[in-house]
This record gives sequence, structure tokens and C-alpha cells, in this order.
Amino acid sequence: MLIGTVNDRAFLLSTEGGQLRGLDIEESSGGRFSSQTAELFPDWEALREWATSANFDATSARTLDFDELQAPVATPRQVFAIGMNYKDHAAEVNLDLPSTPAVFTKYVSSLTGALETVELPSEAVDWEVELVAVVGIGGRDIPKDTALDHVAGYMVGQDLSDRALQFAGGGAPQFSVAKSYKGFAPTGPWITSSDEVADPGNLSMTCSRGDEVLQEGNTSNLVFDLPYLIHHLSSVVELYPGDLIFTGTPDGVGFGRSPQQYLVPGDELVSSIEGLGEIRQRFVPKGEAPVNSALREKEASLA
Ligand code: ZN
Repeated sequence: MLIGTVNDRAFLLSTEGGQLRGLDIEESSGGRFSSQTAELFPDWEALREWATSANFDATSARTLDFDELQAPVATPRQVFAIGMNYKDHAAEVNLDLPSTPAVFTKYVSSLTGALETVELPSEAVDWEVELVAVVGIGGRDIPKDTALDHVAGYMVGQDLSDRALQFAGGGAPQFSVAKSYKGFAPTGPWITSSDEVADPGNLSMTCSRGDEVLQEGNTSNLVFDLPYLIHHLSSVVELYPGDLIFTGTPDGVGFGRSPQQYLVPGDELVSSIEGLGEIRQRFVPKGEAPVNSALREKEASLA
């Protein structure tokens, strides 16, 4: 089951035949399910059952453009992100493997959808493709062996990072704000429900710029795997339905290169994870981002 958000409403999506089609979930279910993606998680199993009989040939099915896909979970209550969580990435940035997960947040205002134009706040903006888990059932003190039962699904994410601000604090690195500029947390293109992901601990991922492959990794190289992260986070805070967990990035980031390399205006970044689809960002100088079609529609509906 693929769940996306279009025009601020929850859609069931199909990519069959290479064509993106969608059904408005509230309309197509006769009001059985909410129009708001965030409210679907308590009903997730019933939704999955309903989705198996959904008819994409119905007249209510819409053909969608990729750039209509907004952040699948636009305002989660909590966003967790994990630093230095791949063995190869920790090595390239010359840091010891952490003995406990290095947790920070990406503030929710940085979340965007699958296809976005992002302004560059500095000349040191870096890429980090990441597997993002969406919490379905929350809780505290979740044991490792049942942790994956708490995951509704998975998305591709980018943990865009301004290394200039991140390390401006000297001995007090500023991970959270440096990774939360406008558009710095693209997610999507949709939520792939967890039943369709055989093993989240063995997913290959790539991040490319044009023809150049920047990162190639696999979640099998995680220092702390997803069950451990859910166990660890829930031993401190309560997890809520819809919370996001950015699980870390493999090696190949610009900061770890010699000489270091960063994004420049005109670059297009493509991030993909096996079975989950891909997201794309184009980069422009500060103050020059055009308004995308999802925002145009929203503004038109408000006018
Ligand atoms: Zn990261």
C-alpha cells in the first residue's frame, strides 16, 4: 500500500504501468477513513484491507503529477534523526563509532515533499540519503523484538545539512538547526506500508547528482539498526503515531571528501531506496525558489 498526500488530503497511490494514479481516501471510502494522513495510523490495518480492493479504474481515480506529492506526514509530533549511524560514514568523517545513538531533530517546518526546489543558505550544503521510518503505533519502552510492529511504513528521506552552521559552534555542534532550513527535510515520494518491505535491515540506497553517483549504501551497514533505535528512543520519550525516524546516512557525503564538495545552484539531487521510490531536489541561490504546483494549488484554493 502506497499512501501519499495531495492538496493536503490523504491519497492511496498506484504506480502500475509507470503511471502515478491516486484515489482520495476519504471520498473513495465513503468517509470510512480520514482525509488526513496523520489520522490514518490508528486505522492502518483496516486501511490496508480496504486498499486491497481499491479500484484505480474508477472514475474517481486521478492521474497525478509527481510534483503534486507533498510530504506524506507534514506535521509529525516528533522527528528523530540519527547521526554517524553507518560504519563507513563515521569513518569518512573521522569520528569514532558512537556507543549510543547520536540523536538530533529536524524541525517539522523543514519537511517537504518528493520534488522540491531548495534554496542554498550557504556554500556548504551537503547531501545525506536516508531511510525514514514512520511510526504507526506509539508507546514507551518498546522491546527490540517487537519494535518493527510499531512501524507503519517507510520513505526515502534527505537529511540536507548546512555544514557551515553545523560546525560553527565549535565544541557544541548545531545539528538540529543546521539541518532544518526551509526544504531541508524532503521525504517521500509516499509511505510504502511496512508489509511491503521484507527486510528494512537490507535495503540498498543511492544518491546521485546528474550522472555522478555520490552515495551507495545499504541499511545492513547501520551501527544501530531500526529495532534498536525504536527500543532506545522509546526508553526515553514516548513515540507517537506519525513520528518520523531518519535512520542515518551511508558514506559519500561531501563533507567527507577531499577536497570537500557541496551543492551549487543548478544541481539536481536524486535519492532512491530499493522498493521505496525516489525523491528529487533542485537547488537555487537564496531567495530564488519558484513556487511549486502543490503550493500554487493551495494558494489558489485560499484566494
Ligand atoms: Zn543524517
